[in-house]
Amino acid sequence: MELWKKSLKELSDLINSKEVKPSEVVEAFVKRTEEIEPKINSYITFLGEKALEDAKKKDEELAKSNNKGKLFGIPIAIKDNIITKDIKTTCASKILENFVPPYNATVIEKLEEEGYILTGKTNLDEFAMGSSTENSAFFTTKNPWDLTRVPGGSSGGSSAVVSAGLVPAALGSDTGGSIRQPAAFCGVVGFKPTYGRVSRYGLVAFASSLDQIGTFSRTVEDTAILMNVIAGKDEKDSTSVKIEDIDFTSFIGKDIKGIKIGIPKEYFPEDLDRDVKEIILKGVKQLEDEGAEIVEISLPTSKYSIEAYYIIAPSEASSNLARYDGVRYGYRTKDYKDLEEMYSKTRAEGFGAEVKRRIMLGTYALSSGYYDAYYLKAQKVRTLIYQEFMDAFNKVDVIITPTTPDVAFKIGEKSNNPVEMYLSDIFTVSVNMAGLPAISIPAGFKNSLPIGMQIIGKPFDEGTVLQVADRFEKLNNYNLNFPSL
Ligand code: GLN
Repeated sequence: MELWKKSLKELSDLINSKEVKPSEVVEAFVKRTEEIEPKINSYITFLGEKALEDAKKKDEELAKSNNKGKLFGIPIAIKDNIITKDIKTTCASKILENFVPPYNATVIEKLEEEGYILTGKTNLDEFAMGSSTENSAFFTTKNPWDLTRVPGGSSGGSSAVVSAGLVPAALGSDTGGSIRQPAAFCGVVGFKPTYGRVSRYGLVAFASSLDQIGTFSRTVEDTAILMNVIAGKDEKDSTSVKIEDIDFTSFIGKDIKGIKIGIPKEYFPEDLDRDVKEIILKGVKQLEDEGAEIVEISLPTSKYSIEAYYIIAPSEASSNLARYDGVRYGYRTKDYKDLEEMYSKTRAEGFGAEVKRRIMLGTYALSSGYYDAYYLKAQKVRTLIYQEFMDAFNKVDVIITPTTPDVAFKIGEKSNNPVEMYLSDIFTVSVNMAGLPAISIPAGFKNSLPIGMQIIGKPFDEGTVLQVADRFEKLNNYNLNFPSL
C-alpha cells in the first residue's frame, strides 16, 4: 500500500479505523519527501523530524480514544506567508528571513484543533507577488511534471508538494490567481473561497481587499473537508463574514442535472492555445451530457482586469509593506548614519526587484496628482467587473473558463518581462476583483503537461462550485495521475 498516493479522505479513513497509525502516514510522506524534494525544491522550511514526533504523540492519543478531529494525523504543508507560531515565516523575502512569529494565523489554530500535522513551510514568490516562484529570494521551485518548467505561483511550493505526493494537502493564498494558476500548472485541485469566507488573520498582507487563503488537494472531496475546517467568521478579521455554516462535503457525489453553466466568450479568444480550448470545451461537453445546461455569456469588462489589478494590488501593497522599516522586526541594514538612511538601506537591501517595482507603482498610483486618474479609475473598473459577474449569475449558476492561457512555461522564459508574467493571470484576476469563489481542477494534458479548468461561483456559493468540480473529477479521474519523478 503506497500511502503517499492516497487522498486525505482515504488516509483519514485508514487512521480512524486504526488500520494505519499517524506515524506510519507521516513516515511515508517524509520518506517520499527526502527522495523527491532535492529535485523540486518546494520547502523553505521542512519539518520532517518534528512531524514524526508529533505523529508519535498522535499514535498514543489514538490508542486511548476514538473521537478525533477531522484532520487527525494528516500531514499538511503551509505556504510561507501564513503565520506559524515559533516556526520561521519568511514570505520568501530577505526582509523576513529570520522572522519567528509569536502567534498562529487563525487557519493554523483551526487545523491544530482538528489534529493536523505540519510538515513545513512552502516556497512562494516574495510576498506572493508573482506567477512562477522565480521571485522567491531563496530559490525557484520546479514543476514536478517537467523540472525545466515553473510550478506557477505565487503558491508554487504548495502546488508542487501536493502534485509530487509529498503531502495530501496544503494551504496557499490567492490574490490574483496564486492558488488556481499553480494548481493548473501542477495538475492538482486548487480552491479560492469567496472573499470573507476564510479568516485572513495571520496571512501576511499583500493586497488586503483581494487576498484570500485557500487549499490545494488531490481531490475535490478533500477540498470540501479542508473547507469545513478553515471557513468561518473570525473576530480577529473584520472582513470575514458571518454567514450560516455549510457542510461543504454535502455537495460531493451529487448529480448536476439542470445546473446552468455559463461560457464567457471573452475567455475563449481567437488566439487561445488550440489544445487548451479543445480540452476545456470537451470537459464542458461532458458536463452537458451529465444534464447541465450550457449558456453562452459575455463578460466584456474582464479585458481590463489585468490593468485594473496592477493598479489596485500594488497600491495596497505599497501601504501594507510600509511596515518593514527595520525598526520593529525583520532585517535591518548593518551600516547607516541616521534613521532615514537606516530605513532606505534596509528596504533597498531587504526587498527583491518585483516587490520594489510594486511599491513604486503603488506609491505613484496613490500620489495626490494621480489618484483620480489611476486608483479611482481602477476601482470603477473593479465595480463594473463585479456588476457584470452579478448580471451573468442572474442567468447561470457557475461559469467555466480555462484557468490559464497555456501550460506551465519554462524557468526563465518570462522572468525578464514583468508584463508577460502579469498576463499569465489573465483568466484568474477578475475573480479576485469580484471576490468570488473559484476552483481549478485538472482537465487534461498537452504534451504531458497538465491543463486546468476554472469553475467560478456566486459569492458564498462554494457548494455549487464543488459539486460541478467533483462531478467532472469523477468522470475523468485525472487526480489519479502522478508525475514520474
Ligand atoms: N500573479 C499575481 C501577482 O503577481 C497574483 C499573485 C497572487 O495571487 N498572490 O500579483
